[in-house]
Amino acid sequence: EAKEMGRNAYCLFDPGMLADVDEQLRLRHDLRLGLERSEFVLHYQPQVDLTHGKTIGMEALIRWNHPGLGMIPPGRFIPIAEKSGLIVPMGDWVIREACGQIAAWQRDGLPKMVVAVNLSALQFQRGNIEETVTRALADAGVDPAWLELELTESILIKDAESVLTTLKRLKSLGLSLSIDDFGTGYSSLAYLKRFKVDKLKIDQSFVRDLMVDDDDASIVRTIIQMAGNLDLKTIAEGVEDKHTLHHLKTMNCDEVQGYYFARPMPADEAATFADSYYWDHAAERDAGRHGQ
Ligand code: C2E
Ligand code: MG
Ligand code: MG
Ligand code: MG
Repeated sequence: EAKEMGRNAYCLFDPGMLADVDEQLRLRHDLRLGLERSEFVLHYQPQVDLTHGKTIGMEALIRWNHPGLGMIPPGRFIPIAEKSGLIVPMGDWVIREACGQIAAWQRDGLPKMVVAVNLSALQFQRGNIEETVTRALADAGVDPAWLELELTESILIKDAESVLTTLKRLKSLGLSLSIDDFGTGYSSLAYLKRFKVDKLKIDQSFVRDLMVDDDDASIVRTIIQMAGNLDLKTIAEGVEDKHTLHHLKTMNCDEVQGYYFARPMPADEAATFADSYYWDHAAERDAGRHGQ
């Protein structure tokens, strides 16, 4: 049969590629069902403020609890969801779920935290992002000030005028905007000012080798200085050790997020963390509390 021959021919070249194609097809098929069956869940990763040592935010990160394959990270299904367009309803679900979580945490009396949600470029092109966000906030009864939207630089350089209009309307609701993976794309200073962004998330690739790579250290320092001049906040992603953390503090980075503090966790664990954890810079320096 032709299909079988095609498969065999493929195998001759690269069996690994066949496995990839098979997996992609399976995931693409299961994705829609998964959305209907509520197999997706949001985990939350704390964002710690370096001035006061408190958890001031949580990034919502989607996971897929697949019935046959277990917990699947977003890197394996977001690209497929983007190709099939399913990222639009999936992204809408993420926004609604995150708003519901903000309301639940505030009802439980937790210290107030901003929840940051990742947006895909397609949600701007195909979805009605403004209506989705407005309705989700209203239905959950949440003050927009507690929602942050994470954009990628690729969103800003696509069809700039219509994106600009949408972002202006979103901002006028009272929420905040950040640029994810900052430094890896092509956005210019002029863009950042025009788009009324509030915060830059310095990409992990620059943070990872901060202590050993002078170029990375200069890039991070430059981003933080530039952000300061433009009145933007900075958060460093991917902070995994104490030394990097302290270096970032001396560079006047505002906030950090990374495995050093916590990995993304289910909502209840994230709440416990936010309620009990306090990073005491001075005590840590004196006693080596974290001992890393
Ligand atoms: P991102 O938005 O840049 O999220 C940060 C990623 O870095 C997360 O991976 C997080 O678990 C990981 N991370 C955090 N701290 C550390 C650290 O100290 N070391 C290392 N090595 N990694 C760290 P995750 O959860 O696998 O998400 C990957 C990407 O998937 C996200 O990157 C984001 O682009 C995308 N994504 C996640 N959730 C959503 C969503 O709801 N919608 C959309 N459109 N994209 C999402
Ligand atoms: Mg993000
Ligand atoms: Mg990032
Ligand atoms: Mg990313």
